[in-house]
Amino acid sequence: MVLPARIARWLRSTRTGIVLGILAPTGMLILSGMMLLDMRRDAWDKAARTSNNLLQVIARDIARNVEIFDLSLQAVVENIRTPGIEGISPAMRQLVLFDRAATAQDLGVMLVLDENGAIAVDASAMPPRKGNYADREYFQVHKKRPGLGLYIGRPLVSRLTGERMIPFSRRIDKPDGSFGGVVLGTMKLAYFSHLFDQLGLGKDGAINLYLRDGTRIMRQPFVDADIGASLAGAPIFAQFLSRPSGTLVKTSVRDGIERYYAFTRIGDLPLILNVALSTREIEAEWRAKALVIGITVLVLCGLAIALSLLFGRELGRRAAMQLELARLSRTDPLTGLANRRSFEDALDAAGKDARRTGLPVSLLIVDADHFKRYNDRYGHAVGDEVLKELAQRLSACVHRPNDMAFRIGGEEFMLLLPATDAIGALRVADAVHEQMQGLTLPSAGIGRGAVTVSIGVASGIDDPDLFRRADAALYEAKATGRNRTCSASAAQHRVEVRALRLVRT
Ligand code: GH3
Ligand code: MG
Ligand code: MG
Repeated sequence: MVLPARIARWLRSTRTGIVLGILAPTGMLILSGMMLLDMRRDAWDKAARTSNNLLQVIARDIARNVEIFDLSLQAVVENIRTPGIEGISPAMRQLVLFDRAATAQDLGVMLVLDENGAIAVDASAMPPRKGNYADREYFQVHKKRPGLGLYIGRPLVSRLTGERMIPFSRRIDKPDGSFGGVVLGTMKLAYFSHLFDQLGLGKDGAINLYLRDGTRIMRQPFVDADIGASLAGAPIFAQFLSRPSGTLVKTSVRDGIERYYAFTRIGDLPLILNVALSTREIEAEWRAKALVIGITVLVLCGLAIALSLLFGRELGRRAAMQLELARLSRTDPLTGLANRRSFEDALDAAGKDARRTGLPVSLLIVDADHFKRYNDRYGHAVGDEVLKELAQRLSACVHRPNDMAFRIGGEEFMLLLPATDAIGALRVADAVHEQMQGLTLPSAGIGRGAVTVSIGVASGIDDPDLFRRADAALYEAKATGRNRTCSASAAQHRVEVRALRLVRT
């Protein structure tokens, strides 16, 4: 029972209201922040998946086409060794050497070059077109390096068709192993641009195909100057070379745009493919949503916090007002002393304390002598001034923290002295008389000694009649000439009780 009650009280308290009013929106803010971060991660995951899928699909397409292409070249290399092929007619020879791959759409030329670089057999012309390719890089490479296999060269412009091509070539060995020429097949760059054209990579996205030596074969979006340009030595290219595949984020030197790069080698070929997406575009959709959600949550939370703060301030103000009202209801407005209501509570508490500690509590009733006369003579206002002065002097007579002075009626005051016996109380009463001696009100012509009081004192530990006894003592002081203190003795108490009984019977 105790715990729920405590929790209920805690929930009801103003401070809890404010704390919850701030904590709840703050929690909501944190949660929204986490959610936004999660959404951002999703956007990046999506970009990573998209780039990876693109890479896979394109790399597979290129690898397959190059393989088919290479198989045709290999077929030529093998067929050329067929015994007697030298002797047959050029037309037959063309038929034997080139299969249907030679008619593929993106194929440029397919030629057999003799050891001097001259066209020996031409897949698409009979008789072969004239031309010498001894100066071409691939020809030189094959001449120098037997057993190189498939060689993919840098982009070049075809001497026969004027189109941009990528040369694929294989060496032809003579029966004795010496250089017998080259079989060349060129693939139109258009193949790659068609392949890349279909991809939607955003305004600032790009896809690049490089040779391992850093030469760019194709880029989408297409810029003519990019083709054949070399990236060898660029830090980003070193990264592409360092691993078979991977990702990185880097700001482009070319246009200052930060991009997310996903790259991969294409099979065993000396080709590197990368897809680059602008990081801004990756986050664009998320950013727009985050802005709306962020602003909405911020505004709502800000409102909630502001409201709870306002509410808290209002509650605080009310509590302060209530406290002030409570204080006023227990204070005498004229003198600022505690009033009768306070006195009754304090007397009650002091009685309990006395019973608990066994120490007597003392009560002094102080009543101004012939006060009516001051009013009559000087007027009510001066009377008030005298009362204020009197109250101040009474307060000056009590020193202990628990001693208290009250105004309980017109010109009637009370001093409540806990843990004080009759002797101590009489000492305080003497001090009161002495203080009154010094009371003057020069503006009204009231001089020293003009204001006197009579005091009734009673002390006791467990005495419900304390007040009445003090009052009786005061009565006695009045009756015996005023400006004095009378003490209610226990004996007197008994006498009075008996007298009362006599009256009743
Ligand atoms: P006693 O010596 O027997 O106490 O005579 P007293 O005139 O003081 O006694 P009494 O109780 O007959 O009169 C009290 C007077 O105190 C009545 C009233 O004129 C005056 N009095 C009470 N309250 C106030 C107050 O708030 N302001 C002023 N100025 N006078 C007050
Ligand atoms: Mg009086
Ligand atoms: Mg009186």
